[in-house]
Amino acid sequence: MGSTAPHVALLASPGMGHLIPMLELGHRLASTFSLRVTVFVVTTDASTAQSQINQEYSTYKKVISIVLLEQLDLSSLMDWPTAMLSQIVLIMRHSLRYLRSAISSMEIRLTALIVDVFGVDAFAVADEFKMLRYVLVTTNAWYLALITYLPFIDCKNEDDHVRLHQPFNIPGCESVRFEDTISAFYNRDDQTLFNDYKRTGIELGRAHGLLVNTWESLEPKTLRALRDPKTMGRFLESSRIFPIGPVVRPSQPAKQDVPRNKVLEWLDQQPAESVLYVSFGSGGTLSADQLTELAWGLEQSSHRFVWVVRPPTKDSASGSFFRLSKKTDKTPEYLPDGFVTRTQDKGLVVPTWAPQTEVLAHLSVGGFLSHCGWNSILESILNGVPMIAWPLYAEQKMNATMLAEQLGVTVKPEKLPSSGIIRRDEIEAMVRRVMEKDGNEGKQMRIRAHDLKRTADEALREGGSSHYMLSQMARECECGLE
Ligand code: UDP
Repeated sequence: MGSTAPHVALLASPGMGHLIPMLELGHRLASTFSLRVTVFVVTTDASTAQSQINQEYSTYKKVISIVLLEQLDLSSLMDWPTAMLSQIVLIMRHSLRYLRSAISSMEIRLTALIVDVFGVDAFAVADEFKMLRYVLVTTNAWYLALITYLPFIDCKNEDDHVRLHQPFNIPGCESVRFEDTISAFYNRDDQTLFNDYKRTGIELGRAHGLLVNTWESLEPKTLRALRDPKTMGRFLESSRIFPIGPVVRPSQPAKQDVPRNKVLEWLDQQPAESVLYVSFGSGGTLSADQLTELAWGLEQSSHRFVWVVRPPTKDSASGSFFRLSKKTDKTPEYLPDGFVTRTQDKGLVVPTWAPQTEVLAHLSVGGFLSHCGWNSILESILNGVPMIAWPLYAEQKMNATMLAEQLGVTVKPEKLPSSGIIRRDEIEAMVRRVMEKDGNEGKQMRIRAHDLKRTADEALREGGSSHYMLSQMARECECGLE
């Protein structure tokens, strides 16, 4: 790659769910389209971010530069509690001076800045340095349509209670149940959060382009609406839509000189498609009561599992963090006593983190109980793995609805986790529906997941729709603002 190649800057928000697709996009732009790429990473915990990048992205550093911006002190920035989205928006806003000084010191011309939806404030920096403005929407087009539409809805006169039971219409798109949208919308007690969403929605219309982590044949109706000036397109002033997905880090081949990860080693010993992988993303947690029910549900199902588990959130009933159980084996104190011993032939409990893309690519994995973060969903689809949807927050309920009702690759609990505890018998039944080999439902979902994987592969190959869209955007970056 010549040093005169056009150079683009990417700005990643804190959190692995934002960092991973941003790094992967940077890698694609550099390796496939010969752009020079610097990814700026905003962090509140620089040492963890650095070690994760070193562990998982050392190969990327051969083709892109990764720069950690100065670490921010969260306690001086905000009062607590502050909603997650508002926290990230504030962090991004306060990082702009570091971004500005990092760009000034580079002494090269950057042609474009790509931010995620939490980083739209950085458009000001792009304008100062005469760069093109792009957004990487790390979720799907349906959610993009919702947040683009939000600033233009006036719901003051409507009765919230009635609205909760009605489908919410996004022009030209599938309607969505009101309670499946985002809590900031149906539960308007946090005005700052709602305003953050509204401002983001308006700024999205100012981008030169919106790169969406989806592909044409996955969401044709929504993408049509977003481009149609008579429906959603009218809310998107100058922004054009580039579906470039799936942007997902591919699973890494095993290396001779690196010891095999313990989880993968365990999976090597299991029969094909026999293991349910259970994970709630990079930070999702359950209440103590819900953890107990999930443990019993998995045990009752008698199916094999790998469970990435974190200590529970505050116990809603007692207000305490969790009740300690008597430990008689290696069972973490917040799981039912003896759980690890009783399930040792069939299950593996992994504290905090697993190499997820490699796990989902493993032939022994036959299902994924997921919190429905969009990266996790795409990683599952790309491996043809059907899911059990267990959405927790942000846009995850919309994602779960899309998977269950539009794509048919997941089972979903009767009532979503936000409306109470999911009991062990229901969990057991969902696990059986997905994992049982003689059950038709699991088989059909697996076939559909494989069909989706095929369409994703087609979109990504040279000449495919996502490859073409990214090449168009890369060409714009070559020229910059002329
Ligand atoms: N991830 C992982 N190991 C884990 C948990 C998560 O590698 O134990 C990765 C996962 O592969 C995905 C990302 O972290 O790429 C999580 O993103 P997602 O959008 O699914 O959820 P979020 O964490 O943003 O809620």
